[in-house]
Amino acid sequence: MTLKTTFTTLGTAGGPVPKLKRAQPAHLISRGDLRILIDCGEGAMDQLQRSGTDFRKVRDIFITHHHFDHIGSLFACLGKLMMMQSKEPLNIYGPVGTQRIIDALLTACDVTWEIGLGFAGQNGVHPRDFVRVQELSPGNKVEIEDICFTCCENTHFRSEEHFGQEGPVSLSYRIDAPDRSFVFTGDTGPCSALETMAKGVDVLVGELMDIEKTMERTRLQNPNMPAERMELMAKHMAEHHLVSEQLGELAARAGVRQVVAVHIPLDTINAATAPTYVEKIASTFDGEITIANDFDVF
Ligand SMILES: [Zn+2]
Ligand SMILES: [Zn+2]
Repeated sequence: MTLKTTFTTLGTAGGPVPKLKRAQPAHLISRGDLRILIDCGEGAMDQLQRSGTDFRKVRDIFITHHHFDHIGSLFACLGKLMMMQSKEPLNIYGPVGTQRIIDALLTACDVTWEIGLGFAGQNGVHPRDFVRVQELSPGNKVEIEDICFTCCENTHFRSEEHFGQEGPVSLSYRIDAPDRSFVFTGDTGPCSALETMAKGVDVLVGELMDIEKTMERTRLQNPNMPAERMELMAKHMAEHHLVSEQLGELAARAGVRQVVAVHIPLDTINAATAPTYVEKIASTFDGEITIANDFDVF
């Protein structure tokens, strides 16, 4: 039997602000019995279950970066597996800083572990027994059965001339399976390293930002935000994210076949307005374009 590799967009929201119809970033690679999670935003375990995947089947999680929208459910993942007495290894991969976060979450699990079911002398499973962390550097490869993950640094935290220096790193992943290939950009600005890594993949799953409308919403929701913080937000959005046309440019330069837009920052980007964004992406990219919803399968 030939196995098909699929990419499910479990959570297509972007940014930490809760959305009405989209969960926080989380994506699932499926192939045969393999279930691999990319990013673990708040609600990821619920989204897995709703997509028909028992969350205990996920034994590998790749984290792109440590903004809260991408990691909110890591504690829930450890805690639920502990409560269900999981014994299978859980591998968590991510940029430098991942170990520190997981160590702190493991410590937080101590309190719950000590309580257990409320009887003295219990000896339940602790996530320390099954969690393994591997911090990745740009260029590292991870092979899981016949799927190969490669990563590169992107420009979500800093411009390319600063790559290789001390400081936080944000990663993009390339996923090569025997039948298909994907790139998941994570959060990023325009980035030539990412363009190179994405060369010729079938599907590029990339983030989509609307700076003007997101700033408008930020202003409305935070009327007392100091002007300085506001300016910093605008600069972050312009330099560290991709607007529609830039997503198209990235896909065109990499020569990919299909673009899937995720990390949707606003509730106003929905079925009614999606064609406007598709049109903007199509102004710079010729292939197939989808503005993804939660639980879409590619
Ligand atoms: Zn994000
Ligand atoms: Zn981010």
